[in-house]
Amino acid sequence: MKNNNGTVHPSKIKEMKKYLDDYMRIKGRALREKNTYFCVLHDEKRPSLKSYWLNNDPNTGVRKAKCFSCGASFDVYDLVAALEGVKGLKEQYYRLCEVLGENITTEEEREKEANKSKQKLTVDEVEEYLSKCNQMTGIPFWKERGITEKTILEYRLTYDENKRALVIPFGKEGYVQRYLQHSSYRYMKSSGLRDYFRSQNMNRKLPIILTEGEIDALSIIEAGYPNVISLGSIVNLINVYEGIVATTDLDVIIAVDLDTAGRKWMQDLINTCVTIGWRKPINLWDCIRQPIDTSCKDINDYLIKHRSILEECLDGLKELYGGSHEEIDG
Ligand SMILES: [Zn+2]
Repeated sequence: MKNNNGTVHPSKIKEMKKYLDDYMRIKGRALREKNTYFCVLHDEKRPSLKSYWLNNDPNTGVRKAKCFSCGASFDVYDLVAALEGVKGLKEQYYRLCEVLGENITTEEEREKEANKSKQKLTVDEVEEYLSKCNQMTGIPFWKERGITEKTILEYRLTYDENKRALVIPFGKEGYVQRYLQHSSYRYMKSSGLRDYFRSQNMNRKLPIILTEGEIDALSIIEAGYPNVISLGSIVNLINVYEGIVATTDLDVIIAVDLDTAGRKWMQDLINTCVTIGWRKPINLWDCIRQPIDTSCKDINDYLIKHRSILEECLDGLKELYGGSHEEIDG
């Protein structure tokens, strides 16, 4: 537990009020429709809680929500009190810090993102960058992660020698760099890239597996399973899941990291499914027959340390869903 004896500056208390929507989304109270949530005070089939800027003015920096069913109105602190029973402004503030974690974006970051989207790399720029990378030099680094030539060639995985980064192309749209040595960040997407990394040639019968990182997705591909999408970050879990259940009837298998954040997000997703009535996800870790090696932190670790167990699990899924496989009787 955090020691919460310090005082919180009023400006911090106020700043938090703009994250009302982030909080509601994380708590699984959001629907597809923007700024619309299930009321926190009563059950309802159709969400009637709407969020808005105080006085309709974003410059106030204060986000409010009003329920058009029961008439109650809230700021983000009222919501924490109602949903989680946290009392006292300071305690509520710390709880919000915990829940939002690194997911909150400052105005400057939002602006930076907006600028980025204006400058998405062209296909030619992506191609030019990739051609300057050195695939040969990268092969040992990829192999250390259990990724072999077949996948390296098929997905055109490469290596940026200057930046000492593994490079994962998203088709022709852009790429993500995975820095091997950098203290403040590990992953960097190319300018304006908003896509998720996904496997080529998906099989229409088989469930889609969602992983946290791109290298986890490549690990699933390496282990012989064709349908995988990487979230890039766990914070995209609910959005991506929503997109899949809204547009396909495929089952979705979640392979989040074996850490507290992964577990928390998985639970939040399940709660959201119950609230909204989405079909529930399958947890990949539940599909592994052997006891889970808890010294592994993610799918890539499993590929490295327990390749055959991972392959067996994925083969089992293919068999279960009748996806393409060659079966030898006897
Ligand atoms: Zn209400």
